[in-house]
Amino acid sequence: TTRVPLADLSPAELEVFLDRQRAAYQSLLDRGLRLDLTRGKPSEAQLDLADRLLTLPTTRTDADGVDVRNYGGLAGIRQIREIFGELLQVAPEQVVAGGNSSLTMMHDCLTQLLLHGAPGSPRPWVREERVRFVCPVPGYDRHFAMLAHHGIEMVTVPMREDGPDAGVVAALVRDDPSVKGMWIVPTYANPVGAVCSQEVAAALASMPAAAPDFRIFWDNAYAFHHLTEQEAKSADILTLAAVAGHPDRPLVFASTSKITYAGAGVAFLAASADNVAWYLSHQQFASIGPDKVNQLRHAEFFGSAQGVREHMAGHRAILAPKFAAVQAALSAELDGLGVATWTKPTGGYFVSVDVLDGTASRVVALAKAAGIVLTPAGAAFPHGHDPHDRNIRLAPSFPVLDDVQTAMTGVATCIALAAAEHLQARHQTER
Ligand code: PMP
Repeated sequence: TTRVPLADLSPAELEVFLDRQRAAYQSLLDRGLRLDLTRGKPSEAQLDLADRLLTLPTTRTDADGVDVRNYGGLAGIRQIREIFGELLQVAPEQVVAGGNSSLTMMHDCLTQLLLHGAPGSPRPWVREERVRFVCPVPGYDRHFAMLAHHGIEMVTVPMREDGPDAGVVAALVRDDPSVKGMWIVPTYANPVGAVCSQEVAAALASMPAAAPDFRIFWDNAYAFHHLTEQEAKSADILTLAAVAGHPDRPLVFASTSKITYAGAGVAFLAASADNVAWYLSHQQFASIGPDKVNQLRHAEFFGSAQGVREHMAGHRAILAPKFAAVQAALSAELDGLGVATWTKPTGGYFVSVDVLDGTASRVVALAKAAGIVLTPAGAAFPHGHDPHDRNIRLAPSFPVLDDVQTAMTGVATCIALAAAEHLQARHQTER
């Protein structure tokens, strides 16, 4: 493009640009939009892909002859554990199939660690003076909110294209026994789309940890959620950790929330045999067994691991054009201005935008006033605080394609306007 970076414009040129952006923003206001891009929810068309579930299961017994309508089977039915075991590269005995939410399983693991510790814990985590977690940022707001809710301190590390900065993580974990765990979304991370490389995974699996019960919460929520034919393969963290002599370090989570129904899918925990036994030894006091009817209908619906992969192609067909629309709108409005950079994810549910430092909140407020609701600025950081006020998470999955296009052009207008205002204010203080 022939655009000049905004920072290079003279005050007079900037004034002209600002007037144009104000006019563009006024026409945005005049449109009276009402669009919501706050959360990574599947669209109605995506949910429809799984509607055959509503006719299943066709039988009342699982492959072991157990009546799925009744109580029991705390670890979940074998058929669904086999399918997701294959997908997650782990033996079915090391997979627990639970209820509809992997976030609940993460929370269960965390609260069990807090109240009881795990084999190898010197004491329950609540009896430690302080408990800290390593948190790659930008990251998933609900991970951080869960820790904050339980009084766990968060230490941020930068997220890079190949996963969290493993050197920084290793240095934090090596000497400080209060660092008890870390979050990671290894595949198509929320929100930056990064895929944790084999090298980073191996480093995390093998790094020395001062806490003997250090845990990696490996949240593989987007493991199969490819947007292109270039399908990322998740590192096999359980094998890497076992080989490195830390078999109990990783707790792997996944779910069908963005495969079938977000509110009525099946969630999974995969871990060492000892961790699975530990998890179930506590879970037995909370449940007489999961929803096996739902598990069986999912097993019938997919048929096999290959069935899951094929089903994901349907999601890709719906999602890829929306992600392309985000790229097209941001490029068309912002390329060359030097006021924003954004990720080009090959999977997952989000685009992460970095705007000019100090303008993210303003962009989100401008968008909101124009009827485009975005995730609050700072949401991808612990306590909702982005130290640079520059990161915005875009979630284009839910609205129809037309609305994604409209919304993104509007967001780009807000980004350019906020940047121009910011630079003009700077010119004025420098004068
Ligand atoms: N982990 C991540 C990284 C997510 O983005 C989400 C959904 N936004 C979840 C977990 C929630 O998973 P579930 O529906 O299985 O609780």
